[in-house]
Amino acid sequence: MEATTEISPFTPPAAAAPVISLDGISKVYRTGPFEVRAVDDVTLRIEEGEYVAISGPSGSGKSTVMHILGCLDVVTGGTYRLAGDDVGAMTEQDLAVVRNRRIGFVFQQFNLLPSLSAWRNVELPLVYAGMARGQRRELAVAALERVGLADRIDHRPGELSGGQQQRVAVARALVGEPSLILADEPTGNLDSVATDDVLRLFDDLHAAGRTIVVITHEADVAARAGRVVRMHDGHVVADTRNPAAPVEPAAPPAPPPASPAPTSPAPTSPAPAALHWNLPSPANRSTEPVQDPGAER
Ligand code: ADP
Ligand code: MG
Repeated sequence: MEATTEISPFTPPAAAAPVISLDGISKVYRTGPFEVRAVDDVTLRIEEGEYVAISGPSGSGKSTVMHILGCLDVVTGGTYRLAGDDVGAMTEQDLAVVRNRRIGFVFQQFNLLPSLSAWRNVELPLVYAGMARGQRRELAVAALERVGLADRIDHRPGELSGGQQQRVAVARALVGEPSLILADEPTGNLDSVATDDVLRLFDDLHAAGRTIVVITHEADVAARAGRVVRMHDGHVVADTRNPAAPVEPAAPPAPPPASPAPTSPAPTSPAPAALHWNLPSPANRSTEPVQDPGAER
């Protein structure tokens, strides 16, 4: 099946490759004579629109999997395909672009820059993507509105509660329309009210068709996802659907006929569109290199 070159975030490639496809993935850390198999022969598929929790006790390999999924670390063995593309075959620069455009990260510690206002933090992925300033602000403000922080756009992280800071981080993860939202213990630093706030936000994003992977050791956080992948000693030991979770979004469209569907825009660019397909236009046609935001400040 042929890939199209211009694809909006909610009409994925007709090929409908899983967003995540791990085959026999392993990660071995060596320190001196010691060897730790942090992840051992993990095979896993995650489809467009799924909301998956990866759970398990401390040391079971969750963060290692997160780093692999986020293209932040290389595997020792096996194959990782992100939306059909072999991550192992990518150059460092490809990986930087993928991390910036295809994946929205949410971390336990929020990882906001303290000297920047909320909207300035949210626009950062767009700065790296080379988007024009006016459009960046517009999209950053829209993302903050989506997480319920329209009245906090000029506040710095230190002027916001923990839950609000994490919502800013979620807005930053969303702003570039990534194909995957990847969160590592996103509620680990939040009280129960703020936790519920962030989890309701994830419910909403899931209902809107987002693909979300949440790494957590908390059972009540995992219970919100539609599917729970449980790890132990580097292995996947259970992979269960959660009947209590909110209903899955509508199933993806059936495989199309051999010719492109009439609604698919015709390919317009010979550029390596696979690295650009999740940013709103016109940035998805940008040919500017990834740049340091410091250059503009
Ligand atoms: P979790 O996030 O589930 O707590 P991790 O993925 O952090 O688990 O760790 C899995 C295993 O790999 C643990 O035994 C841990 O000590 C080991 N490990 C993780 N990172 C490193 C590293 N950089 N060097 C050596 N061992 C590591
Ligand atoms: Mg961890």
